[in-house]
Amino acid sequence: MKTFPRGLHVDDNKLDTKDKPIKDVAGVVSIPDTGCQIPVKAANLDSLCQFSAKDILHLVESAGIVGMGGAGFPTFKKLVLPEGIAVNTVIINGCECEPYITADYRLMLEKPERIVFGAKLLAKASGASKIIFGIEDNKREAVKAVKAAIREHPAEGPIDIIDVVVLPTKYPQGGEKQLIQSITGKEVPSGGLPRDVGAVVFNAATASAAADAALDGVPLTKRVITVTGSGVKEPQNLLVKIGTTVAEAVNYCGGMTADAAKVILGGPMMGVAVSDLNTPVEKTTSCILVLNEREAKLFEESNCIRCGRCIKACPTGLMPNFLAEGAKAKNWKKADKEHVLDCIECGCCAYVCPSRIPLVQYFKKAKLIVTALRKKQADNAKRN
Ligand code: SF4
Ligand code: SF4
Repeated sequence: MKTFPRGLHVDDNKLDTKDKPIKDVAGVVSIPDTGCQIPVKAANLDSLCQFSAKDILHLVESAGIVGMGGAGFPTFKKLVLPEGIAVNTVIINGCECEPYITADYRLMLEKPERIVFGAKLLAKASGASKIIFGIEDNKREAVKAVKAAIREHPAEGPIDIIDVVVLPTKYPQGGEKQLIQSITGKEVPSGGLPRDVGAVVFNAATASAAADAALDGVPLTKRVITVTGSGVKEPQNLLVKIGTTVAEAVNYCGGMTADAAKVILGGPMMGVAVSDLNTPVEKTTSCILVLNEREAKLFEESNCIRCGRCIKACPTGLMPNFLAEGAKAKNWKKADKEHVLDCIECGCCAYVCPSRIPLVQYFKKAKLIVTALRKKQADNAKRN
């Protein structure tokens, strides 16, 4: 049995939502329908030719589609490339590597055709001729479903190749830069973007949302989330409206157990704790995780013993112990020099740290401050 930070056990069958079909509860929450509809052409899963790149950009922007894997970056901004930059590959991230989250897995299983069509739209808008799905090898059924959808709706128009690459189940396989390296063998440079190596990455749910906008004129007002954890009576996957509260979503899953103690939005590795059950589900919320008292126990931080485990664990090749020194001492120049902005906040370093140092918390704060300082410097340079 593998234990993750915050005490979650991967092999706990009760918490395995892989076999739980998506339950649509979007119609029964207290949020009124916006009635908002995007005008669309009559299209089907094989009518990519009906959409020009400009149409797709407009659609994606009007539908309010953002990266649904966590970052929340507006999708149309990712699709508009600066002069002289081109991408040849769209990567669809189907890894969902954090333990317990199965929302994208269910989506790939239940709506693979939509995801393939959405991927085609995004590829056409970005000018890429190749689409690669990256899916971890613990999601064999999803691999089968996506491959079958590709066979039924093969590459067309400006797209030459659509393929599925099965990747080892390894955290954080779904990190954008890690995924690009696993699939293309290319390393995104420090401070760079995927387009610097000719790729652009979208989450499977984002591709599905693009298809919903194009085929049904539906903006991004709903999403699939996994509601799970030892503090939830009946863990499952739900389709909810954006804005549904944590309390409402958990109630659809039988409510909380008597020993529920902590709610996290996101997975056990990268999620953020929330203190108010009225916190809404956002476009980037993939999971509501409720921990019991035992799992939510906080450990006391002790001094770094220079064991170097965090360095070995860091997937981006950083030195978390040195980074933490800079961040703790509020030496932001040191943190910047140690490339804190390359930290993907995966939590691997904190997971292995025997001194229980909450390294990621230091890095999150340091990233915000370093980004603000860099911006200030750039503004000053422009003024002078
Ligand atoms: S959270 Fe830790 S392990 Fe993950 S990228 Fe940042 S420094 Fe590296
Ligand atoms: S794992 Fe923890 S104790 Fe070991 S070097 Fe890194 S920060 Fe220090």
